[in-house]
Amino acid sequence: MTDPELLLGQTLSFRADPFLVPPQEAATYDRHGAVLVSDGKVQAIGSADALRAAHPDAKVTDYGDGLITAGFVDAHAHYPQTGIIASWGKRLIDWLNSYTFPEEMRFGDPAYAAEAAKLYFDLTLSNGTTSTVSFCTIHPESTEAFFAEAQARGLRVVGGKTCMDRNAPDGLRDTAQSGYDDSKRLLEKWHGRGRLSYAITPRFSPTSTVEQLEAMGALWAEHPNCLMQTHLSEQTDEVEWVAGLFPDARDYLDTYETYGLLGPGGLYGHAIYLTERERARLKEVDASLVHCPTSNTFIGSGLFDMAGLMAEGQRIGLATDTGGGSSFSMLRTMAAAYEIGQLRGTPMHAAQLYWLATQGSARAIRMDNLIGNLAPGMEADLIVLDLASTPAIAQRAARAGDIWEALFPTIMMGDDRAIRAVRIAGVSAKG
Ligand SMILES: [Zn+2]
Repeated sequence: MTDPELLLGQTLSFRADPFLVPPQEAATYDRHGAVLVSDGKVQAIGSADALRAAHPDAKVTDYGDGLITAGFVDAHAHYPQTGIIASWGKRLIDWLNSYTFPEEMRFGDPAYAAEAAKLYFDLTLSNGTTSTVSFCTIHPESTEAFFAEAQARGLRVVGGKTCMDRNAPDGLRDTAQSGYDDSKRLLEKWHGRGRLSYAITPRFSPTSTVEQLEAMGALWAEHPNCLMQTHLSEQTDEVEWVAGLFPDARDYLDTYETYGLLGPGGLYGHAIYLTERERARLKEVDASLVHCPTSNTFIGSGLFDMAGLMAEGQRIGLATDTGGGSSFSMLRTMAAAYEIGQLRGTPMHAAQLYWLATQGSARAIRMDNLIGNLAPGMEADLIVLDLASTPAIAQRAARAGDIWEALFPTIMMGDDRAIRAVRIAGVSAKG
């Protein structure tokens, strides 16, 4: 039993989904709050006075006006694309060919992959992202590097070897058999080891043959407790390409469904151009959609229908999609989600944005019983936000009438400077 520590500050947690109930019913806010942490877990949350009285021997760390919340959960990213983030002027297919594939080619070198994983987690942690779900490259070395670095830092992460056996350059293709064998070996080595989880990872239908999709489906059937991550309906050109490659498929989702790649635990990145049938099937099986707003604007993909999909009861997470996304910050990602909502005439409340970046993404990856909220028994991955991290933010927050007005300028204008402290399983990783 590690000695208990009492963290003091403003506290914000969720007790319900703010897409279902009003913000004041969904969230619990305490101006003078406290979180009791020991053994890597949140033991209690309440008012500072009450918890200090109940735990007089606990070590006290006072964050003053800092806002203590759960850490951010990034439900879709590509750590190997860290080095090519913010590459100019291409849409999806050209962007993959021009920037992504040449960079991913380098990850067969274990030393290069290890350096990239280190840099990636430095960046995500400094931005307050405590859990990430990442694609690796086709090289097993890239997945080994990702998990080894996450393990060394005690992070709860999900990752998987990306599988591609067609429509990718030489040196960046596996085969149906080697994709299956390598994925299986990595899964057996890393899945459930400490805080690590494996996701079966076909990149997307255009880069896998039918044989590879079948092999991935078979592996998922053998390991149904694993997640499965891929991409779905990101751009209209891509949707047409898929229709040409799979002439017998009813739609894009059918190219996954037919081969056993649709189910609960399936994470479908982007999901912008969905048909009625696809929406109905995704809802029916309770699969997860992952919204990547900075990527969708940066690569010019389109406007995700958050309001419509939430109203249908879809399970939805939020993600950076780095390096197609243009920021490692989940604050910037929330801002982009807000802007896309505005362009669709359906702006989101700050409570909804913050829930998506924490509890919503944890729910999308089926770990909301472990991470994404401050509550007794949850893993103590938490952050402390400075709600006045720049002069522009500070002057706006000073006029705020409530916590949502105080938080919203940081959501819209904040970055890593707003992340004052980060705790991983209770242990300091920043600040
Ligand atoms: Zn992606």
